[in-house]
Amino acid sequence: MGKPKFKPQFAATKKRINLTDGRITKKDRIVKKKKDDKPKIIEVPQYSSALFFKYNTQLGPPFHIILDTNFINFSIKNKLDVCTSMKDCLFGKCIPYITDCVLGELEKLGSKFRLALKIVKDPRFQRLPCMHAGTYADDCIVQRVTQHKCYIVATCDKDLKRRIRKIPGVPIMYINKHRYAIERMPDAPTL
Ligand SMILES: [Zn+2]
Repeated sequence: MGKPKFKPQFAATKKRINLTDGRITKKDRIVKKKKDDKPKIIEVPQYSSALFFKYNTQLGPPFHIILDTNFINFSIKNKLDVCTSMKDCLFGKCIPYITDCVLGELEKLGSKFRLALKIVKDPRFQRLPCMHAGTYADDCIVQRVTQHKCYIVATCDKDLKRRIRKIPGVPIMYINKHRYAIERMPDAPTL
């Protein structure tokens, strides 16, 4: 009885053919590149914590309303008093806000719109200081409304309306049939 042959049981290496073996074709030699392991960065717009799904919890009363240049002008054309018409529309206290750029736009329009300037300088209107250059109000209003969800935007401008509809939780006030109307205003919560 001879000694049993030594069989390595642990760390046994796999048998493999020589790298220069003829059985390895050119195809096999191509090292497939690994797919990028880097995690993909998907940019998702951050949703405001003020929104309960689509219901904006930060809306008033009192309602904070940012006025657009043309909204003020249309109000004058329709002989509507801004503060009282707002109150009639929303049945609550309304605070109209005028940004510096809207004021700049009104000033640029000249003497025809002097009445608009006079209305805007009423003490019931709050001023919102602007930090940006120029007097292009649309971008300014859109930016403010995206950052702070407490505002309603009052405008008659089609383009601005379209831009604001894309921002969740921002109602739009406009003029319809000689009175103010509101769009995208959430219903009163039933608690
Ligand atoms: Zn501005």
